[in-house]
Amino acid sequence: MLIVMQHSATPEEIRGVIARIEELGYQARPMPGKQRTAVGLVGNDGKVDAGCFAALPGVFEIIHVTQPYKQVSREWSPENTVIRLPGGLTIGGGEVTVMAGPCSVESEEQILETAHAVRDAGAVILRGGAFKPRTSPYSFQGLGRKGLQLLAKAREETGLLIVTEALDAEGVDLVAEVADIIQIGARNMQNYSLLKAAGRAQKPVLLKRGLAATITELLLSAEYLFAEGNHQVILCERGIRGFDPATRNVFDLTAIPVVHKLSHLPIVADPSHGTGLRDKVTPMARAAIAAGADGLLIEVHPHPERALSDGAQSLDPEQFSELMKQCRVIAEVIGRHVAAPAEV
Ligand code: PEP
Ligand code: MN
Repeated sequence: MLIVMQHSATPEEIRGVIARIEELGYQARPMPGKQRTAVGLVGNDGKVDAGCFAALPGVFEIIHVTQPYKQVSREWSPENTVIRLPGGLTIGGGEVTVMAGPCSVESEEQILETAHAVRDAGAVILRGGAFKPRTSPYSFQGLGRKGLQLLAKAREETGLLIVTEALDAEGVDLVAEVADIIQIGARNMQNYSLLKAAGRAQKPVLLKRGLAATITELLLSAEYLFAEGNHQVILCERGIRGFDPATRNVFDLTAIPVVHKLSHLPIVADPSHGTGLRDKVTPMARAAIAAGADGLLIEVHPHPERALSDGAQSLDPEQFSELMKQCRVIAEVIGRHVAAPAEV
């Protein structure tokens, strides 16, 4: 529920509404706006009687949020959320922010070579997993702490910001020491203890859609982050499980405009996992930008044939550079442009 105050509401009247919310056992989230202040009510699991607030001094109107997710909904906040990153980079502010790098950090040479290559091509954030969620326990599990150190080194050398995955609640703080954005992977979208830990972190979170998750479930997972106080959430469409083995996943482009309608959060697209096939990544990256994606997450490896994970969907640096050229053109067509590097 949102309690919208009158233009002329005094700080005391706003405090009165907050006190009433707390008296009823809920939490208040005051949101000062340009025109008027709204006070959000959270913590309810069902409809709250508007009559509790309608007659309080200074109240203009009561809006019931109809979706099961509250704070991430458009009803709650009609303005787009803009994620602010170090060096003036933003996600969700109208630019297309490109994150690229290997699936996994494999060695110093590999991550530095990739970082330089993707930066030269125009990416502004380096991706790469140090902790990897692998389907088989016998597959490469990532370099762990060493991988994080290598990412920190790549950041220092190139100025690229870092997005990397936290696999479990215990790992969030460690990852947050190096990451500018903490990634929560598809397999972990409904790992509620991880979501709660990331919700307490002081870093933006990239939340990937689960393998078989509906958009409502994705937004409810984002709500977990909000409920713990982290409002810096970037959603990511990375494909969902389908019945056709022609591609690794079904890349759900429709999710982009659907999420934009339902939520104020930015959504980026990952056509690498979305398709699983190198030659499908660039066409679907173009399509995602045309559909309104706020950014891209692309797997790039200097030698994809030797990659320890996801080589089949990784672009080589030359292919990535071509992707960037094409994406710049598509972005312009819809009145956007590809984000310039951070000033770090
Ligand atoms: C990844 O980004 O390398 C990854 C593991 O992605 P997902 O969680 O979407 O499978
Ligand atoms: Mn991968």
